[in-house]
Order: sequence, then structure tokens, then C-alpha cells
Amino acid sequence: MSRALIIGAGGVAGVVIHKCCQNSEVFTDICIASRTKSKCDKFKDELQGKTKTNITTAQVNADNVPELVALMKEYKPDICINVALPYQDLHIMDACLECKVDYLDTANYEPEDTAKFEYSWQWAYRERFEKAGITAVLGSGFDPGVTGVFCAYAQKHYFDEINYIDILDCNGGDHGYPFATNFNPEINIREVSAKGSYIQDGKWVETEPMEIKRVYNFDQVGEKDMYLLHHEELESLALNIRGIKRIRFFMTFGQSYLTHLKCLENVGMTSIEPIMYEGREIVPLQFLKAVLPDPASLGPRTKGKTNIGCIFQGKKDGKDKTYYVYNVCDHQECYKEVGSQAISYTTGVPAMIGAMMVLTGKWKKPGVYNVEEFDPDPFMEALNKWGLPWTENFSPVLVD
Ligand code: NDP
Repeated sequence: MSRALIIGAGGVAGVVIHKCCQNSEVFTDICIASRTKSKCDKFKDELQGKTKTNITTAQVNADNVPELVALMKEYKPDICINVALPYQDLHIMDACLECKVDYLDTANYEPEDTAKFEYSWQWAYRERFEKAGITAVLGSGFDPGVTGVFCAYAQKHYFDEINYIDILDCNGGDHGYPFATNFNPEINIREVSAKGSYIQDGKWVETEPMEIKRVYNFDQVGEKDMYLLHHEELESLALNIRGIKRIRFFMTFGQSYLTHLKCLENVGMTSIEPIMYEGREIVPLQFLKAVLPDPASLGPRTKGKTNIGCIFQGKKDGKDKTYYVYNVCDHQECYKEVGSQAISYTTGVPAMIGAMMVLTGKWKKPGVYNVEEFDPDPFMEALNKWGLPWTENFSPVLVD
């Protein structure tokens, strides 16, 4: 018997909610709470009667800690699954501390006024979570999330030391729009328009946005252009995986997406600096978000597959070894199952699994942790069971 408070009612939340309702033995009760209560009620209306999970809904502004605390005191959740936006992370962690509720999210904290993501703010909560006897699991989506679990699994079963990791995130899906983002446009554009970076010999190496391009032939998707991006899990993996010399993250983008993005950047539409417009302050990127298609509406239109995984190079028993582990996910199949495309699906399923790990005691450890710091085996088993099966390749093509 356990109670989960799910904060947010967007694309990823929709998948978390469906998956918790499929897993009623663990998630006997869920409360969906978000800024717009009607979106929470819509999920409740859709699922009630089709699941044994008891669903309640609530309105909450997750930037307001007293409001969150009041909701937690009333609902008494065992865990809070934060699938709102990265800006809310610290507020929700504060409320969890006050109410002694375990915490899980899928993206690290980012201040709203600087596009800068790093774990320092959340790692600073370690001691307070330890003292309170509660667990925080950071970044339990796909990347970060499953990619970290893949790293822990490779380390545990196949390597004495891992020297090189390349995380490859390929979206071979086509939604038919000239330009749209697969998850929250504001977060997505902030991520891809930032400078790239990777870790080499313990130091960050910075690149211009999209400066490093490679071509890779992805299983079940085919050949795609991919670009080196900064990505949050590099920071924690470089600390938690033994023997790392270099770790990089690549994401695929089509030419049309990049051309549109460049144009929007050139005219100033991706800026997060507020400007005055007709007597009112607006943030260009937030305005852009309002005119772009809602990622939740892409579900029925998106066809094709995603392929996300990690390629490892390292040593086992003194010998060189390579290993590639990845998941392939089909946009249309996700839509049939839970009414969302694969980007939300590949994030929401691991969030449910991470919460299940904590609730069933497998990942219960007071403090603040990244996913690779826990035992990967039960999570890997759950991925196969809950819709994200993985494939291994022991002689993959490497990225130069
Ligand atoms: P959406 O924009 O679709 O949903 C965000 C939800 O959060 C909305 O329902 C929104 O409310 C709600 N929200 C925003 N601010 C507040 C607030 N102050 N109080 C209460 N609720 C609030 O985003 P996604 O579902 O696409 O993404 C959710 C999270 O998942 C993000 O943090 C994103 O970075 C992360 N993510 C992680 C990935 C991974 O692999 N690790 C991949 C993709 C996403 P309203 O409906 O009123 O706007």
C-alpha cells in the first residue's frame, strides 16, 4: 500500500499516471496535483474505473512551498514524483523535507533566469535529507535516468573500469510539422541552444552549440546526424563511474529542425531576457512556447522510433572491452498504450519505475542520489517488464 503525489500534468506526467495505474499493486493511491487542475481531472476521468489505483486531484502552485506543505500534510504521500518543470525542483524538495516525504524527479534544477543546469543546488540537500531519513532520487527519466542505470549496470557486470562513455539519443520520429519540440519547448530550446560540452580527463571542454557533428547508423532507425550537447548526467556519471577518461552526449537533429532553430535564434525568439512589448514585459522564449504546437498534441501524429543508449569502452580482466546497451521505442505503440509519443513515454516509465524502487525499499537510502548510485539490477528487470526493453551489443560501431 503506498501513496504517490504526482506533481505536474503535462506530457511526462500523463505517462507516469498511466503507468502507476497499470501498477496498482505498488501504487494503490495517487494524487495528481498541478497548476491547472482541469488537466489533472482529465487524467482522472480517463482512468478511473479502468484501474484499481485510487485517483484524487488537487490544484497546487509548486513554486509556493507552504501550499505544497499543506497539500502533503493533507494527502500524506509516501513519495512525491516531480514531473513539473526543473524550476520547481528546490521548492518541492523543501516541502518534502518539511513533511518527510521521499522525492524523485526527471530533470535537475535550473534557475528560471539563467539557462544553466548543474546538480550543485540539489546535491546541497544531501545532509538535510540524510538527517530527515528520506530519499531523493535525481534524474529518473531516460536521459538522465535509464542512461545512468545502464552505466551502473555496465560497471557492475561487464567492466573493471570504464574509460569512455558515449550516450546516444536518437529520435527517428516524424510529427509532420516543420518545427515542434517533443517536450516542453522552453526547456528543450534552452537545452539545445546552449553551448555544448563534454568531460575529458576530469575537466569540462566547452564547444560552440552544435559544433561537433557525427553520423551514426541506429538499429531500427537508420543513419542520422547527431550533435554533441551538454547534458546534465555527464556531471554525476564522471564522479560515480570508475576510470572515466571521457564522457560525451549526442542527440540527433534533422536539418529542418536546425534551420528553424537558427532562424528563431537569429531573430531573438529563443532569448530568455525579458523585453517590453506593448507596455508589458514578455520573455521571447515563453512567447515562442505559446505559439508552438503543444508537445502533448504530437502523440497521434508522430511516427517512427527512438533509440537511446550508451556505448562503453573500458577494461575487464586486463583486456579491452566494448559494450552498447540501448532501448528502441515506437512512437505509435506508445500512443496506442498511453496516449503519448515516445519522448514522454521513455521519460515517464522510468519515473514510475524509480518511484517503485523507492516504495518497495530497493532504492530506499536516506540522502540525495543520482540513479547510478543504486543497484541497477531491479531497475533493469523492471524496464523489460514495463515497456522499455533493452538490447545489448558487444561489438558496436564506435563514435570517433
Ligand atoms: P510539460 O510542459 O508538458 O508539463 C509540465 C507540467 O508542469 C504542466 O502540467 C505544468 O502546468 C506544470 N507546472 C509548471 N509549473 C508549475 C508550477 N509552478 N506548479 C505546478 N505545476 C506546474 O513538460 P513535460 O511533461 O514535457 O516535462 C516534464 C519534466 O520532464 C520537465 O522537467 C522536463 O525537463 C523533464 N524531462 C526529462 C526527460 C528525461 O529523459 N530525463 C526528457 C523529457 C522531459 P500547466 O499545465 O498549468 O502548464
